[in-house]
Amino acid sequence: MKPSAFDYIRVDTLDEALSVLADNDLEAKVLAGGQSLLPMLNMRLAQPKALIDINRLAALATLGRLETNLAGVQSPATTLLEVGALVRQRQLERYALEEPRARLIHTALTYVGHPQTRNQGTVGGSLAHADPSAELPLLFLTLGGTAIIQSTRGERQVAAEEFFQSYFTTAIEPGEMLTKTLWRLPAPEEGIAFKEYRRRHGDFALLAAACTMKIGSDRTVKHVRLGLGGVTDTPLLVDEVREVVGEHWAKERVRMVAKAVVNRLDCADDYQASSSYRRQLASVLIASVLDAAYEDALAKEGNHGVDQG
Ligand SMILES: Cc1cc2nc3c(=O)[nH]c(=O)nc-3n(C[C@H](O)[C@H](O)[C@H](O)COP(=O)(O)OP(=O)(O)OC[C@H]3O[C@@H](n4cnc5c(N)ncnc54)[C@H](O)[C@@H]3O)c2cc1C
Repeated sequence: MKPSAFDYIRVDTLDEALSVLADNDLEAKVLAGGQSLLPMLNMRLAQPKALIDINRLAALATLGRLETNLAGVQSPATTLLEVGALVRQRQLERYALEEPRARLIHTALTYVGHPQTRNQGTVGGSLAHADPSAELPLLFLTLGGTAIIQSTRGERQVAAEEFFQSYFTTAIEPGEMLTKTLWRLPAPEEGIAFKEYRRRHGDFALLAAACTMKIGSDRTVKHVRLGLGGVTDTPLLVDEVREVVGEHWAKERVRMVAKAVVNRLDCADDYQASSSYRRQLASVLIASVLDAAYEDALAKEGNHGVDQG
């Protein structure tokens, strides 16, 4: 199929982009890497009257660690990675390969499509598209990110927990666009792990899981964050794994925790997998990602004796 007719507007400044977006009559959509939007246009799943091509906005393509404190977002001990909405997925993947604290981001990105799609696809595009199986939304939620959203009315910040609202739906409102994201980087001693199950190389995940974990010098778990993708209409943060906090690691117990978590999940049932299959897979993935994060925390140099609290 071919897309329905639309106006193509290429902007040179952010102000220009925001003022076009503010014009309700245009019913415009932002065009970033086009890797999701163009197929949607071709299948007529999206029929905007206009496309705003933001690819010339170099100011949205900056990437780097944020060392200064940002009110309301950062505690003194937190290091943030600032990622412009137009940063290509491949650019972030390469950066994360060289940044030890962004290793989780690097691992997850290697599962996103193919190098060719990552060369074009942007970080902002993936988050704004909000596919519930996509890797970057899952990481954004698991690490604890903040979205910077702008419009002609000004700027607002939205925490990852409030950003993803439903299938392909985010907190970005009409007239707004995502300009920047802030990602919490795990501390050097934190264990990290990412696992996903997909049918073929390059496919979207059927289910994915990401985890960060801190352990103490006594080898008990101090802190754990577990995120799941592909389970329901948005990526999920799983609170119940707090059951492992304060405990010594025991694989059998972890399997029981994984089963208990899954029993409380409302798994999607669709053409790709039944809800009972998703439950079974989620149970295996959760136990496996928790085990891997614990092993990683154990292996981190200098871990023992670092965190007594
Ligand atoms: C063959 C193939 C395989 C793929 N496999 C995977 C995979 O395994 N995992 C995965 O996660 N993704 C996968 N993708 C999708 C890919 O990651 C896309 O790049 C991504 O979903 C969208 O990014 P984009 O920059 O191309 O956005 P676009 O396609 O340009 O836009 C996507 C949507 O986001 C909106 N948007 C874009 N930028 C902004 C912004 N700054 N502010 C507000 N709205 C914005 C657009 O209006 C549109 O609605 C695959 C794509 C292809 C073609």
